[in-house]
Amino acid sequence: MAQEVLFHVSPSFADAFSCKAGECRHSCCKGWEIDIDEVSLSRYRQLSGAWRERMNAAICEDETGAHFILTAEDACPFLRQDGLCDLILAFGEDALCDICALHPRFYELIGPFELAGLGLSCEAVCELLLSGEGELLFSCEETGETFSLSVLLSRLGFLPEDASLSFAPARDLAAMLTRLEGTEAIDALWPLELARIRRDLAAHPVSLSVSPRYDRIFSYLLYRVLEEIPRWGLAVVQAYARDAVSFIALQDALYGKEAETLRRWSEQIEYSTENIPYLLSCLKSQNASGFLP
Ligand code: SF4
Repeated sequence: MAQEVLFHVSPSFADAFSCKAGECRHSCCKGWEIDIDEVSLSRYRQLSGAWRERMNAAICEDETGAHFILTAEDACPFLRQDGLCDLILAFGEDALCDICALHPRFYELIGPFELAGLGLSCEAVCELLLSGEGELLFSCEETGETFSLSVLLSRLGFLPEDASLSFAPARDLAAMLTRLEGTEAIDALWPLELARIRRDLAAHPVSLSVSPRYDRIFSYLLYRVLEEIPRWGLAVVQAYARDAVSFIALQDALYGKEAETLRRWSEQIEYSTENIPYLLSCLKSQNASGFLP
């Protein structure tokens, strides 16, 4: 029987989120499959007149369900040139199917906790996370408390009370890049980007530093994968977040553009069903051989 949710937790910055809509340079209405849930599908099929024809032409149904047929530019058929959504403009936000209404939010259940957050493949979320200062805090809806990730981890039983976590850069950046090179590429650019970083790192050796800013990113990336701790162990999941922040910090040192490197890393790793377990399994075997970097 599923455990009752007693505590709803979310990062304190989440309330300030708002979609950049037409200002967004990496719209989530492009480059992703858009599945349509059954309730929305039945609503869409009930439209009349010109909208009925347009909607029917925009939907395909196959054995996996209904989807919007993407345009030649890989975009949602209702995405306008100005970045706005024709469905919202015509019928309001309630017209969105579940996946569009939910994105970029995520929810994870661990014991009596529901952990909510906003995915970093959205540039507005990256900017929001990086615009904050100081320790990243989380809020509990029921108790009104705010607390650090370490406190949350100890309440989840993953960390002893009074212990704390902070970012320490990967010691071997070349090995960290090797792990990323083994991931499934989301597009043809990813291997080229990695090759460029490897080349530039060899030409300009970088020594990463610690900073409260990297601690914030580290806390959030770790928060996103807390459900992996029972399977892989805290040391391995922590090493995964440490690798990710090191990768972002490395690119920041080489090229700047921290928010965009964070968004790009998230799109490649966090939104792939294969890449997170792949990286965790690499780190797990290194941990088993006593070589967790
Ligand atoms: S990626 Fe984020 S900011 Fe851009 S359109 Fe999607 S939800 Fe809005």
